[in-house]
Amino acid sequence: VEARVRLGDVGEFGLIDRIAALVQATGKAVRPGVGQVTLGIGDDASLLEIPPDRTLVTTVDTLVEEVHFRRDWTGPEDLGWKSLAVNVSDIAAMAAEPLAAFLSLALPPETEVAWVESFIRGMAECAWEYGCAIAGGDTVRSRERVAITVTLLGTVERGRALLRSGARLGDAICVTGTLGDSAAGLALLQKGKGGPGPRGKRVKTLDTLIIAHLRPRPRLDAARALAASGQVTAMMDLSDGLASDLRHLTARSGVGARVWRNSLPVSDAVSAVAPLLGVDPTEWALHGGEDYELLFAAVPQSIELLRPMRVPITVVGTIVEEGVWLLEADGSEKALEPRGFAHFQTRD
Ligand code: ADP
Ligand code: MG
Repeated sequence: VEARVRLGDVGEFGLIDRIAALVQATGKAVRPGVGQVTLGIGDDASLLEIPPDRTLVTTVDTLVEEVHFRRDWTGPEDLGWKSLAVNVSDIAAMAAEPLAAFLSLALPPETEVAWVESFIRGMAECAWEYGCAIAGGDTVRSRERVAITVTLLGTVERGRALLRSGARLGDAICVTGTLGDSAAGLALLQKGKGGPGPRGKRVKTLDTLIIAHLRPRPRLDAARALAASGQVTAMMDLSDGLASDLRHLTARSGVGARVWRNSLPVSDAVSAVAPLLGVDPTEWALHGGEDYELLFAAVPQSIELLRPMRVPITVVGTIVEEGVWLLEADGSEKALEPRGFAHFQTRD
């Protein structure tokens, strides 16, 4: 019975009550020392206490139906997870720790309450995993499409935020994990393989890639450890693809970069699936977005010090004076042009 209840039936405040009940537990997850939510959902605004030796860090991301996600490919729980995870990734990339998330939802009145509750459960799961509270938000009506805006506040030890702007000539360019998994997962979804539904029915390899796309796991602990090492000069998260994001990092640092195609870390799953779809896996690694791995520059002599971390680290290139270059397997070199997902561009 409950499954058929729509937003129009319970109204804005009925929905907010349900959201509040579902997120209550997340507040307890906040990491010690990061700050504290002393008043969450239910009043005109929330109250947060921040330790005096920390700086507030904020980020916001919006996901629009048919632009960033499709409801037939993405189940509500995965979407809830991802809406927060993409913000956690930005906070992590600053070497900060998440504190409290704010959720603005624009929903058509026909939306099922159960869909929103599943969304909140997925988001709360992510909040729990990364140690932050869901401390407020806004709920409005939209005509046809769902739009989700998550604002995430975090804190970092004063003066310790890691910016995009510190890379220096000769630094090693590194990434965590593997690249292209999310792009491969998206390609599989586009081919009609996967989507919401029982996970058990998906083939294992395809599963890994689709999950990488639908449930990214931002590198919060790795980012903190990298920052604490004192060897990292610049850092950002990979949301648009290496070719595109590396341009942002080099531009902010006033340097250039050379990347070696042969060095790009590609997972076994991507290597297995790419030929089936007629794609060069390193193209996914260079241009696929939404991996939410860390891209950073570090003093070259320090890389061995960083390796014992639990997350794999790969050196993919080096900081040069200017330009962004790709060294091919045959030794030739060409400009590495961004081809990542860019809004307001209508190519493909
Ligand atoms: P106001 O009209 O004063 O802005 P609202 O009625 O929009 O207040 O919100 C009431 C309370 O519910 C606030 O604490 C707000 O943060 C919270 N809230 C509203 N919508 C959401 C949502 N989608 N997710 C989480 N909290 C929400
Ligand atoms: Mg108010």
